[in-house]
Amino acid sequence: MNSCGVSLSAATVALGDEAKKMAAGKASRDSEEESLSLTVEEREALGGMDSRLFGFVRLHEDGARMKTLLGKAVRCYESLILKAEGKVDSDFFCQLGHFNLLLEDYSKALSAYQRYYSLQSDYWKNAAFLYGLGLVYFYYNAFHWAIKAFQDVLYVDPSFCRAKEIHLRLGLMFKVNTDYKSSLKHFQLALIDCNPCTLSSAEIQFHIAHLYETQRKYHSAKEAYEQLLQTENLPAQVKATVLQQLGWMHHNMDIVGDKASKESYAIQYLQKSLEADPNSGQSWYFLGRCYSSIGKVQDAFISYRQSIDKSEASADTWCSIGVLYQQQNQPMDALQAYICAVQLDHGHAAAWMDLGTLYESCNQPQDAIKCYLNATRSKRCSNTSTLAARIKFLQAQLCNLPQSSLQNKTKLLPSIEEAWSLPIPAELTSRQGAMNTAQQNGSDNWNVVQSLSHHPVQQVYSLCLTPQKLQHLEQLRANRDNLSPAQKRQLEQLESQFVLMQQVRHKGVAQGLHKSQSSCVSGPNEEQPVFSTESAQYQQATSTGIKKPNEHLTLPSNSVPQRNADSHLSSHIATSGGQQGIIFTKESKPSKNRSLVPETSRHTGDTSNGCADVKGLSNHVHQLIADAVSSPNHGDSPNLLIGDNPQLSALLIGKANDNVGTGTCDKVNNIHPAVHTKTDHSVASSPSSAISTATPSPKSTEQASINSVTSLNSPHSGIHTVNGEGLENSQNSTKVDLPLVSHRSTSQIIPSMSVSICPSSTEVLKAFRNLGKNGLSNSCVLLDKCPPPRPPTSPYPPLPKDKLNPPTPSIYLENKRDAFFPPLHQFCTNPKNPVTVIRGLAGALKLDLGLFSTKTLVEANNEHMVEVRTQLLQPADENWDPTGTKKIWHCESNRSHTTIAKYAQYQASSFQESLREENEKRTQHKDHSDNESTSSENSGRRRKGPFKTIKFGTNIDLSDNKKWKLQLHELTKLPAFVRVVSAGNLLSHVGHTILGMNTVQLYMKVPGSRTPGHQENNNFCSVNINIGPGDCEWFVVPEDYWGVLNDFCEKNNLNFLMSSWWPNLEDLYEANVPVYRFIQRPGDLVWINAGTVHWVQAVGWCNNIAWNVGPLTACQYKLAVERYEWNKLKSVKSPVPMVHLSWNMARNIKVSDPKLFEMIKYCLLKILKQCQTLREALVAAGKEVIWHGRTNDEPAHYCSICEVEVFNLLFVTNESNTQKTYIVHCQDCARKTSRSLENFVVLEQYKMEDLIQVYDQFTLGLSLSSSS
Ligand SMILES: [Zn+2]
Repeated sequence: MNSCGVSLSAATVALGDEAKKMAAGKASRDSEEESLSLTVEEREALGGMDSRLFGFVRLHEDGARMKTLLGKAVRCYESLILKAEGKVDSDFFCQLGHFNLLLEDYSKALSAYQRYYSLQSDYWKNAAFLYGLGLVYFYYNAFHWAIKAFQDVLYVDPSFCRAKEIHLRLGLMFKVNTDYKSSLKHFQLALIDCNPCTLSSAEIQFHIAHLYETQRKYHSAKEAYEQLLQTENLPAQVKATVLQQLGWMHHNMDIVGDKASKESYAIQYLQKSLEADPNSGQSWYFLGRCYSSIGKVQDAFISYRQSIDKSEASADTWCSIGVLYQQQNQPMDALQAYICAVQLDHGHAAAWMDLGTLYESCNQPQDAIKCYLNATRSKRCSNTSTLAARIKFLQAQLCNLPQSSLQNKTKLLPSIEEAWSLPIPAELTSRQGAMNTAQQNGSDNWNVVQSLSHHPVQQVYSLCLTPQKLQHLEQLRANRDNLSPAQKRQLEQLESQFVLMQQVRHKGVAQGLHKSQSSCVSGPNEEQPVFSTESAQYQQATSTGIKKPNEHLTLPSNSVPQRNADSHLSSHIATSGGQQGIIFTKESKPSKNRSLVPETSRHTGDTSNGCADVKGLSNHVHQLIADAVSSPNHGDSPNLLIGDNPQLSALLIGKANDNVGTGTCDKVNNIHPAVHTKTDHSVASSPSSAISTATPSPKSTEQASINSVTSLNSPHSGIHTVNGEGLENSQNSTKVDLPLVSHRSTSQIIPSMSVSICPSSTEVLKAFRNLGKNGLSNSCVLLDKCPPPRPPTSPYPPLPKDKLNPPTPSIYLENKRDAFFPPLHQFCTNPKNPVTVIRGLAGALKLDLGLFSTKTLVEANNEHMVEVRTQLLQPADENWDPTGTKKIWHCESNRSHTTIAKYAQYQASSFQESLREENEKRTQHKDHSDNESTSSENSGRRRKGPFKTIKFGTNIDLSDNKKWKLQLHELTKLPAFVRVVSAGNLLSHVGHTILGMNTVQLYMKVPGSRTPGHQENNNFCSVNINIGPGDCEWFVVPEDYWGVLNDFCEKNNLNFLMSSWWPNLEDLYEANVPVYRFIQRPGDLVWINAGTVHWVQAVGWCNNIAWNVGPLTACQYKLAVERYEWNKLKSVKSPVPMVHLSWNMARNIKVSDPKLFEMIKYCLLKILKQCQTLREALVAAGKEVIWHGRTNDEPAHYCSICEVEVFNLLFVTNESNTQKTYIVHCQDCARKTSRSLENFVVLEQYKMEDLIQVYDQFTLGLSLSSSS
C-alpha cells in the first residue's frame, strides 16, 4: 500500500483467482462460465483498480475503454454474487465498491462498501476501502462520516498515496464546518505534498487565502491573494476568481483608506477579473454593486445588464437592480425586478424584505406584511425578530385604520399576488434551461462542479444512517418474522430513516448537477412563498400593462444623478448563510461557469456591508437591523489607577475575603433540576476521616458501583457498538445477539497501545527473546497494525437522573501533617475520583499566597506578558450566542496580549466599577423599593444579550526561576505528589520544559472569566490553587464520558480538542452525563484526575496558579498514550512526547506496578520495531543514516510539517542540515516533498544497541508495599 501510481499495470490483487476460487467453492458451475467472460488481460487490468484511481481514470489515455471494462466487471460481479446468494468472500464486495465508485455510481458503491464493512472485521486495515468509503460519504455531503473515514486512512497508513487528496478534502470539509484551524492545517499539508491530486497548487492556495477571508482576516487574505497573483502561469480561471475576491473584499471591507479609494480599488480589481474572464456574471454583478455604491447609476445598470447576459442571472442581481430602480424612484420597475429575484429564488429573504419596504413606501402595508412574512420563512433570514416586530407594527396600524380607507385608495403598485402571477421573462427562463442542459452534459465527468449546500449537509448528518445502523437494519430485515415487538419497532424506525436517507441521496445527486442553487430556478425543495388565501383569485388575473423588467435595463428615463451619492443598495443581509458550497474545478478543464468560491461566502461581505452602510436609504427596516447587529465590542477599560480602597487592596494582596464575590455560592448545584446536593461536606479533623466521610454515607454504595464502571480495564466493555458511535436506543445496547457488531467492539474501541491489547509479560518477554536472538522479527504478530482509536461510548447502563449531580470528593486539611498524610495522594489519584478538592491547603501549609497577588506580581514583573481572552460576560452557568437568542456550545474567546501591569489596572478598575454599580443599585433600591416588579423584570432581561465583554488574563508563564524565584520557592512547600517537580512526576522525567505543564502558569480573572471545557494535555492530571480573594466555580465530568462530550462538540460543529466550548448543562442532563459542581475558595487546591473533563468560571476577582503532574500509575500512562494516539488521528500535536518519555522512564524509573510495566514495555517494543524496520528500509534503499547523537537535555522532536513526534531517526533537509538549524520532518512528510528523499539527510540519535539494552534492562521492580 506504500506506492500506487496511476499506472494500471500492477495487478496486485489476483482478481481472476478470487473469482475462480469463489466459483469453485461456493457457486454453481454456471457462474464459473460467467466469471470466465472476463479475459485474463481484463482481470489483470482490473486487479490494480481501486478507489485510489478515483479522479484519475479519466486522465488515463484509455479512459473510455476502462469505463467499459469496469461496467463489465460490475455486471460479472453482480451476477456472481447473485448466484452465490451473497455468500462470497468479503473482498468481493470491496472490489465491487471500488468499481462502482470509479464509475461514479455512488449509491451502488456505498451499498457494496457497507456489505464489506459488515463482513470484514478488520476492515480498518484496508486503506483503499476506507478511502473509497470516505469519497462516497464526501459525495453525499455526509462530512461527519467522510472525515472519520479519511482520518482512519491516514492513521492506518500515513504514507497513503492519496494523502494529498485526503488533506485537500479534509481542508474543504473543515472549512464548511467552520473549523478553520483544522482546515488550514490540512490545506497546508496538501500543499507541501508534491503528489498529484484533483486540484492544482494554485487552487489549494486560493482556498487558503479564502479561508483567511472567511475568518475576516482580511489583511492575511489580501496578502495571500496578491501572492497568488504573482504565480507564474496562473490559470486564467484562478486569476479571475482571485481578482474577483480582491475586488469584492475591497468593496466591503475597510482595507484601504477612504471610501472613494476603496471603491476605486474594488472597481480596478473587478475590471481586471473581467479581463481574465469576461464571461463571469458574478464579476459583472459585483462591479454593478460597486458603481451603484458610488452613485454611478448608469454604469451600475450596464454592469447588471452584462451580468444577466452572461447567463448567471441570479436573484442577487435582480434584487440589486430592484434597489437601483427604487432609488431612482421607479417603484414599478423596482417591483418587477424584486419579483424576478424571488421567483428565481423563493427563499431570497433580502429580496422579500426589499419588496416589503417598497410596498410600505407606496402605502400598501398589507402587501408589505406578506413580503415580510415570506422573508421570515426563509432559512436565510438572519433578522427574523426585527421583521416580526415590523409585521406586528404594521398589523396594528392596519387595525386602527377604517376598512374603507384601504379599499378605496387606488394602489400605486399591483398587489403581490398580481405581481407574482406574471411569468418570469422568457429570456431568463430559457437561459436557465440552457445552462442546466450544459451542466448535465458535463456531469459524467467526475470532476464536474460539485455544489454542496450548507443546509443539506446538516440534514445528511442527521438523516444518514451509520454503517452499523445499516447493518443492524439488514439483520432485522433478515429476521423479520422472528422479531420481538421492541425489535419490530426498531425495524420500523430504521426503515423510515433509510427511506429518508435515500431521498437525501437523490437530492445530493441532483445537487451535483447544478452549479449553485441560488442561480437556478428553484426546485421543489425550495421554500415556496406563501400568500394569504386570497392569492388564488389573483393568480388568474395575469394583469397586463406591466412591462417585463429586462426591457427596462436600458437607462432609467429620469436618470438624474442621485442627490445622495452616498446612498447604497439596500442590504443583502439575508443572503449569507444560505448556500455554502465547495466547488471543484480541474485546472485542465476550466469552465466559464465554474467558480472556486462558495456562493454564500461571497456574500459574507454583504452582511457587514448591509449593516454598516444602510444609512442613506429611507429604508427603516434595514436601519433597525443595522442597530441590532452593530458590534458589541467595546474599547479598552477605563484607565483607573490603583487607589487606597481597603476592599481593593484586599484584592491586590490576595487575602481571602469572603465578602467579595461569593454571592453566587448558594446558587451552586442547581444544574440538574430536583437534585440539590451540598457542595461542602462535613469538616473532618484528620485526612483519613475526611476521606471516609467525603462521600455522604447514604450514597456511598451507589457511588462505589458507579465508579466501578470507570475502573481501569473496563470502561468500554459491555457496550456493543462499533466505531465509537453509540446506538441511541438502549434496546440496541442490551442486545447481545449481534455477533458481528459485538465481536468488533473490542478491537474497535481500545486504542492501539492500551492495556487490553498489551500482551502479557510472558508474551512480551518471548517476543523480546526473539529480538535478542535474531534482531527484530517483522512477522511479530503482537506488533501488527493497530485499529484507529475511538472515543468511549457513553457508560452503560446510564445513570439515573438523580445521580447526575454527585457530591464532589473533598478533603479538609487542618495542619501540615494532614497534607503529607500518604492516603491523600492515593485518594486523589484513585480513578474513581475524577476530581478532589483539598480544602484549606494553603492555610494548613502556611503558604504565602500573597506572593501571587496582583500587587506582588506588579511589583515583581510589571512588564511580563499576559495572554488576554476577550469574552462575553454570560449569565450564571449558561452560554448564549452573542445576540442572546439561544444557548450554544461555542464560546467567543478572542486572543490578544498585554502586560501584567495593564491587566492589573483592568482588574482593579473592573472591581471599582462594580462597587460603584453596587452603590448605585442600593440607592436606587431605596428610592424605588415599592416597585419590585420592575427590578425583577430587569434582572430577567439581563439574562439575554447584548452581553458586556470582559477580559481574562491567562497562561501567564511563571517558568523563569530568576524572575519568579520567591513564588516558585514557596510552592516547594507542597506535598510531593502535587509539586511542580518531583521524582514521582512523569513530567519531571521528560527532561525538558513543556510550558504550562511542568512549569507554573498564572491566571488573572474578573468575575465571569471562563476557561472553556477541556481535558488536560495528553490527559495528565492538573493542580490548581485559587489565590483569591474571590472564588471560582468548577464543572467536572468523569473521563469515561469524554466520548459523549466529543459527540456534542461534533454535533455543534466544534472541534473537541481545539475549539472553545461551554457545555449546555441541559444537554448533559438529557444525555445522563454526571456533572460535579463546586466552589473553589482561596487557598483550596483542586486536583483534576487523569482525563477528567472540566470547565471553570471566576465568581469573583481572583488569581489562580496551575500546572500538570503525571502520577506514576497505570491509569495515567494508559490515558496519556490513548490521547497521544487520538491526537495523531485528529492531526493535533501532543504536547507530551510519549515515546521520548517512555524511554526516559525505562532509563530512570523502577516500576513495580505490573500493569504499568507491561504497558511501558509494550510501547518500547513497538517503537524498537519501528526504528529497526525504518532503519533497515533506509539502508536497503541506499540511504545513508548519519550518526548525530543527542545532547543531554535536548527536547523531543516534532515534525515541522505534521507535528507528530519524531523519535531517533530525524529527516532533515540538506539545507537546514548545512545551516545546522535542523528542521525536523517525519519520514512521511519528507517523502511527500521529496519522494526518494534526495533532499534529505537522515540523522540518527540513538544506537540500536543502546535502545535494545535499555529495553533489556527495564524490568519489573519489586513492590515495596503489598497493598497495591
Ligand atoms: Zn510529518
